[in-house]
Amino acid sequence: MVGPPGAGKGTQAALLAARLGLVHVASGDLFRDNLKRQTALGKKAKSYMERGALVPDELTVQMIADRLGQPDAAEGVVLDGFPRTRQQAEALDRMLAKMGAKVDATLYIDVDRDEIVRRLSGRWVCSAASSHVYHELTNPPLVAGQCDIDGAQLVQRDDDKPETVRARLEQQLPPMFEVVDYYAEGDVLNTVDGDQPIEDVTEALMRVVGQPVR
Ligand SMILES: [Zn+2]
Repeated sequence: MVGPPGAGKGTQAALLAARLGLVHVASGDLFRDNLKRQTALGKKAKSYMERGALVPDELTVQMIADRLGQPDAAEGVVLDGFPRTRQQAEALDRMLAKMGAKVDATLYIDVDRDEIVRRLSGRWVCSAASSHVYHELTNPPLVAGQCDIDGAQLVQRDDDKPETVRARLEQQLPPMFEVVDYYAEGDVLNTVDGDQPIEDVTEALMRVVGQPVR
C-alpha cells in the first residue's frame, strides 16, 4: 500500500487485509513489536537508534521477512508503511526473491495535494482543554474557532498549519513518487482515486485485489 500521508493507508490496509483474509503488516507496528520483544533484530535496530543513526533498510526488510515467515502470513500480507523510498523497494524485492515470493500488487491511493493539505491541516485544539479536538472536515465545531464544550478559542498547532503541512509534503512526496514509478516500471502498480469516501476507496481497492492473485 502506497500513498501520501492523510490518504488513509493504515485504515484501508486493515480493511483490505480483513476482507482478503491476509495479515496486515504495518512496518511501524513491526518495529515496535521487535523492540518490545527484544528480538535480535529489535536489539540491532535499537543500537542504531541509540546512536541517533537511521536503521538500515536491510534491517527493516529482515523484520518483514521474519514476519512473512510466520504461519499466519502463509497466504500473504498487506504491507503498509514500507517501502518509502526506491532503495527500500529494491531491498524488499531482493528479499522477496530470496524467499521465492514477490509483490503481487502495489496499491497506490492517489490524493490531490490540496486535499492532503486540507485533511492534514484541519486540526484545531481547544485553548482551554487539549482533549477538545476538532477537524474542519471530519469533526467541525458548531461555531468556527470556538469550542462546543466550553466556548474557549480554538487554536492550531504549528505542526497542523497548512504552510507547515505543505513544507513537510515537499520533503515526503518526491520519495513516494519514486516508489510509485518503481512499481509502475515493474508493472504491478494499481492506482486508486483517494479523493472519495473511505468505503468507496475500499471498494475500488477490492476491485483490484478482490480475486485471488495466484
Ligand atoms: Zn474546550
